[in-house]
Amino acid sequence: MLSDFHVHTCFSADSDCPPIEQAARAAALGMEEMCVTDHIDAGQVTEEGRVFEFDPDDYLAQMRRLREEFSGRFMLRIGVELGLDPDHEETVRSFPGRAPFDYVIGSVHVVDGMDPYYPHYFEVYPDEAGIRRYFEVCLDCVRRFEDYDCFGHLDYILRYAPRLPADYPDAWRELTDPILRRLAETGHGLEFNTAALRRGMAFGNPHPQLLSRYRELGGEILCVGSDAHRSRDLGADFGRAREILLACGFRYYTTFAERKPLFHRL
Ligand SMILES: [Zn+2]
Ligand SMILES: [Zn+2]
Repeated sequence: MLSDFHVHTCFSADSDCPPIEQAARAAALGMEEMCVTDHIDAGQVTEEGRVFEFDPDDYLAQMRRLREEFSGRFMLRIGVELGLDPDHEETVRSFPGRAPFDYVIGSVHVVDGMDPYYPHYFEVYPDEAGIRRYFEVCLDCVRRFEDYDCFGHLDYILRYAPRLPADYPDAWRELTDPILRRLAETGHGLEFNTAALRRGMAFGNPHPQLLSRYRELGGEILCVGSDAHRSRDLGADFGRAREILLACGFRYYTTFAERKPLFHRL
């Protein structure tokens, strides 16, 4: 089983899962490593009023205790999923330095103050305009920010788009290509996120053609994550993920320790 490097616990505003449940599941599945990556999204609040932030000292302390508890069974890595957002530059730039994280995912969840998870976004930017605007912000973020390890779920906007453009991803290369090129050239990784597969979508994020393209452009750092917000989703569809990555030209996938990539044969 591949190691899962995108896992949420109740330190995330949108999860109620105790960290120990994720750890127990990782041990039961026989993973060698698992990385918790709870959300920091400055300024974002759930409908119930929970903020997408946590105290890094408390988080580190609790996760280190858990790592100790499970030592010898699997290696718990401690990471964060940092929301890249040009409107919250200060948090994006400073947060990775606030604790000795193993791994930082940089993800775009918010575009012009709106989360595409909510229908309002596609009312403001209907259909393809919404997809276009999302990729424009991703491109801005990969040019603006450096301090993250992998770019999370590129093309995640398609999970929420009212319909998938028939010409996706071919006709969108003018936007996706510079993003992938920038990641490859600056030594940033790409994440393959399997959450969409268990929601019945035909592909994970990003689309296999974008995975292949990143590889073609010289990109080598590729982490795999389920984006599990509850333990039964941990490692979901990872057998399929491995097949997809092999078909896209990857022979290795990546995990991280102390912000340094470790390569493992697929
Ligand atoms: Zn995310
Ligand atoms: Zn996530």
